[in-house]
Amino acid sequence: MSKNCDIIKDLLPLYADEVCSDESRKLVAEHIAKCSDCRNMLEKMGKNITVDVDNDINVMKRIKKRIRIEKLVAVAVSAITVVGLALGVLTYLINTTESVDVEKYNIQDNVYVVEHEGELWLGVREGAANYDAVKPTLSDSDGGHFGYGSFNSEKKDGIGITFLRRKIDKFAVVEMPMSFGYEKKLADVYEDEKIQKIFYYDDVNDKEYILWERDKND
Ligand SMILES: [Zn+2]
Repeated sequence: MSKNCDIIKDLLPLYADEVCSDESRKLVAEHIAKCSDCRNMLEKMGKNITVDVDNDINVMKRIKKRIRIEKLVAVAVSAITVVGLALGVLTYLINTTESVDVEKYNIQDNVYVVEHEGELWLGVREGAANYDAVKPTLSDSDGGHFGYGSFNSEKKDGIGITFLRRKIDKFAVVEMPMSFGYEKKLADVYEDEKIQKIFYYDDVNDKEYILWERDKND
């Protein structure tokens, strides 16, 4: 490398960018025509500049694309989470029941048990409650709940009745006068001799309201 090479090396970036003066450009052109070292350096410089620019653009495009995708994924994930939570809450409310407030719906005056020819029937008077949203269940004398079908009267000495309502109905309660009552057969007094009493079980206050007792009725 000659002394000139040092000067040319300083000028090469300007030459490559085509921003040097005519005089400098001439000097560099004349020098690189003779000097392969500086010519190689210029070639590398030019290539590198081109490649770097392309890379930068591609990298920026890739980064922007990735950011867009990440934003879309984040939006989708939060939307799915919100919908999932809403469905979970709804399912919980639909499937969860609670006891009907005894005093609010005047249960003790509107739910009764009568004996018809040796059979015990549960009666619900009209006006007791919003009964399309309320279902009676049976329980043993400890208040554990059973469905009508699963209650084993031979093992229990009492039938507890509890009116359950779905929690979801709290949001859709229509306080309307009920235009119907109903009666449902509970048990056969003589066949189910072990049944000693039938009660309404208030599991909120853990209280029993006796609706029928064998000793008093036989
Ligand atoms: Zn040179």
